[in-house]
Amino acid sequence: MPAHDVLIIGAGLAGQRAALAAAREGATVAIMSKVHPVRSHSNAAAGGINAALNPDDSWESHAFDTVKGSDYLGDQDAIEIMCREAPNEVLWLEHSGVTFHRSESGHLGTRAFGGASAARTYYVADITGQALLHVLYEQLMKHHEQIDRYEEWFVTGLAQDDAGECIGAIARNIRDGAMETFAAKAVIQASGGAGQCFKPTTNALICTGDGIAQSYRIGAPLMDMEMIQYHPTTLAGNGILITEGARGEGAHLYNAEGERFMEKYAPNKMELASRDVVSRSEQTEINEGRGFPDGTVALDITKVPRKRTLEALREIVNIGRDFAGVDITREPIHIRPGCHYIMGGVKTDTWGATDIPGLYAAGEVACVSVHGGNRLGANSLLDTLIFGRRSGEHAARRALGMGMPSIPHSVLAGQQQMIDAIVSRADTGGRRVSEIKDELGTMMNEKCAVFRDEAGLTEAHATIRRLKEEASVAAVDDRGTVFNQDVLGAIELGYMLDVAECIVIGALERKESRGAQFRLDFPERNDDEWLKHINLSVNGGDVPEISYSPVTMTQWEPQERTY
Ligand SMILES: Cc1cc2nc3c(=O)[nH]c(=O)nc-3n(C[C@H](O)[C@H](O)[C@H](O)COP(=O)(O)OP(=O)(O)OC[C@H]3O[C@@H](n4cnc5c(N)ncnc54)[C@H](O)[C@@H]3O)c2cc1C
Repeated sequence: MPAHDVLIIGAGLAGQRAALAAAREGATVAIMSKVHPVRSHSNAAAGGINAALNPDDSWESHAFDTVKGSDYLGDQDAIEIMCREAPNEVLWLEHSGVTFHRSESGHLGTRAFGGASAARTYYVADITGQALLHVLYEQLMKHHEQIDRYEEWFVTGLAQDDAGECIGAIARNIRDGAMETFAAKAVIQASGGAGQCFKPTTNALICTGDGIAQSYRIGAPLMDMEMIQYHPTTLAGNGILITEGARGEGAHLYNAEGERFMEKYAPNKMELASRDVVSRSEQTEINEGRGFPDGTVALDITKVPRKRTLEALREIVNIGRDFAGVDITREPIHIRPGCHYIMGGVKTDTWGATDIPGLYAAGEVACVSVHGGNRLGANSLLDTLIFGRRSGEHAARRALGMGMPSIPHSVLAGQQQMIDAIVSRADTGGRRVSEIKDELGTMMNEKCAVFRDEAGLTEAHATIRRLKEEASVAAVDDRGTVFNQDVLGAIELGYMLDVAECIVIGALERKESRGAQFRLDFPERNDDEWLKHINLSVNGGDVPEISYSPVTMTQWEPQERTY
């Protein structure tokens, strides 16, 4: 049985940063990923990473923008840590080899991002995530003596001892179907987001909420699950992202009547208001008949000098051409709000520790909560790195003071039985995993999107309960062991249904409008009753149980939020 001080599930930016930090503390580390690490979804991050590095900027300004962006639901102690530590983290990345864009004067160059009062987003053209991920992966290889990499291994469940402590995980080698037990003194969930619960989404096929559901199933509370970010600029139909960097470089939004409509909704910040504000504005234009017939508004990137677009936004030039047939340097492109990011996740403290001893979470899987009701663009890469590092450090320190736990064989046997049961499901002509997943995503995008109400959410919950029944008997076609994505897809569907149920229950519970949650039946923010986190736990039942926790305030009292 492989045994490591720290086991990290997920090799995106949060996982890789955690691995390097844990190794630096002297721990032995295993990092595991269901895809090759550099294919982790962090690779898709485009626009950049925030830090108040310029002498005329300050971490306090960055923190206040983040608090305001979160619609005052973010925990201010965590936000302060993230913004204070950001400059050193970006410099560490630079020194490790990330070729950030530089200005004419040779200094690190920035671009403006939404909801920020200063241009503090550092970037590598519009492939920032890819640049960061490759540099971190080089560092992982450099530390190969301490860090074992398990690439293309799929974690199916977490292991707990009798006292409820997390002591490792069970994983399936995707290449040959072999199941293995991994013992660990500390486990860090760094397994990313859950965008695939919605269709369309900007998220890759691998973003199925595995770590959120696995942690929830062993009793870790989830927090802020109702807060799903709809990004203002995604392509209709396929959901592919047009980075906020486009608006940061100067692109404008127009409705079908040629009106630059953000003047009405956010006269000071215009296109660079917070994402929830811009998405709601677009959706209002579309709903009130001022959009284009394909249910979109227009993003005009021709406002940006062509040379600059070709240099700084070259990936979306390709996306526009290949996926919409549009040369964005010469004509506007049609976009609309699309599911992009989950602000909620596994509840942690500022060291990444969850309520389950031995279990940590960092990155998009986690909810620290630095994003609260709405994440500012370019704050997620920062979140992955700061809290990835902090959880790696803390997990290593915990591990170095204890003995190696052992996991009884029955845990592995239980997971093997779960897979055998999927493989042996009889094909009785019921629905396929892909059909159920399709219905889930389409339904979530209708009932739990930019605008929500009680009737739609109640219907959504009933649909999820039905889909859970259907999923429990959905037959698979591939019964083999080599790269059997069919079986993994069935497991992932179970995760997505659990996550979607928590999103809907949280959205039903929060009877107010805050950040990304806009309730048509409760259109105002209500600080008296709802300035609190909603936590969801499994607690032995099969519908999430609701509790609340206070929002941590340090220095910023809630104010009216205008841009
Ligand atoms: C198109 C796009 C552009 C974005 N641009 C930006 C940006 O410019 N700036 C910004 O700040 N944020 C951006 N974001 C958000 C940001 O990229 C993500 O929130 C962040 O990269 C998530 O990183 P992570 O390490 O938490 O997870 P991921 O990078 O998603 O990594 C998850 C890891 O977990 C592994 N995993 C998952 N389940 C299992 C399992 N069952 N078993 C084993 N391994 C598993 C995966 O293989 C992967 O290695 C963007 C997001 C999208 C979708």
